[in-house]
Amino acid sequence: MELTEGRTMIGARKRERTCQEANMFGIMKPGTGGLEPMECGQAATLIVDNGDRHPYWMCPMCADHNVKNRGAIAWVPQVYSQEHRETLDKILELAVRYGNIDGAHHKMWVIDQVVRLAAGKDYDEAVADPDRDWDTGIAP
Ligand SMILES: [Zn+2]
Repeated sequence: MELTEGRTMIGARKRERTCQEANMFGIMKPGTGGLEPMECGQAATLIVDNGDRHPYWMCPMCADHNVKNRGAIAWVPQVYSQEHRETLDKILELAVRYGNIDGAHHKMWVIDQVVRLAAGKDYDEAVADPDRDWDTGIAP
């Protein structure tokens, strides 16, 4: 199985993780006139991008089938420590909330805040550059 590492999908972890692929037995959902297949429903562990709709969760068996037979790419959701997950959530929230405010100085503030969160206690070292001063921007 071809796997790519280090990719995550925002929001995916909030969903119930059951396989959203159509079941392998061709069973259709009641009341859909035989048009909409019942979902597989097994415990899902991978996010699969098969190129025909938004990447979605699949169980290992369905993921394997899609990767081998349909050229899909399975993303392995990264497992983070709770601390790293919270830091990433803060970075995401900051970037999304403030990242599109006009003005280079405001965008520089966002970048600086992201660096502060990502670097933690190593912030000073991270921004140290002998050739120029680090620009901390202006808060929006
Ligand atoms: Zn499945």
